[in-house]
Amino acid sequence: MVYPGGVTALDRVSLDIAAGELVAIVGPSGSGKSTLLHIVGTLDKPTSGTVLISGRDVATMRDRHLSSLRAREIGFVFQQFHLTDGLSAADNVATGLLYAGVPRRHRRERARHALDRVGLAHRASHRPQQLSGGERQRVAIARALVNRPSLVLADEPTGALDTATGHAVLDLLRRLNEEGTTIALITHDRDIAASMPRRIEIRDGRLVRDEIAEVRR
Ligand code: ADP
Repeated sequence: MVYPGGVTALDRVSLDIAAGELVAIVGPSGSGKSTLLHIVGTLDKPTSGTVLISGRDVATMRDRHLSSLRAREIGFVFQQFHLTDGLSAADNVATGLLYAGVPRRHRRERARHALDRVGLAHRASHRPQQLSGGERQRVAIARALVNRPSLVLADEPTGALDTATGHAVLDLLRRLNEEGTTIALITHDRDIAASMPRRIEIRDGRLVRDEIAEVRR
């Protein structure tokens, strides 16, 4: 992946993520982790190379199909939550359904169910500013899950949280993985990475390590 201006952000990276995996992507700042996550999530197109999702080459898909695949199959979680201030937790979660063609009458029920999965059903009508950081991230995770995606991509999901809250969010991601969701998350926290079943290490745009290791908790 070469950005305009000539930065080679990813170079000869070859990677397979199987259904059901929980993968940590680690590496120093600027090494290409976010670029990798964006390419895997079809938010960015690589300047060369191919991306296959469920065996399909995304480069051959029309934009409309690609947006629909992204909306239905992939959930995104960000370090800074990216919730909308004026909306309740339930409405924030329901925005995840807008592009998946879910009829309005089903959206609220689906949103409540997703909030229930992250243990926040009792906060459905709270707005983001009435929630703690950990609760906000759980709302963001509920939004990522509301379409029942097969893949969740999380860019430093615990980066804005204190250690204890971060661990609770990780426990939630682990549980969702045990329930069948494939998850790839970026972290620069070595302890978090060490607790993940598979670790991929990126340096200067190159994949330098890909290990399935004994899990330390
Ligand atoms: P990380 O997530 O590991 O911090 P990134 O994937 O964000 O790394 O960035 C990898 C490299 O690509 C960095 O050198 C960064 O400055 C550069 N980069 C990232 N996004 C862009 C962009 N939109 N345009 C130009 N260069 C970029």
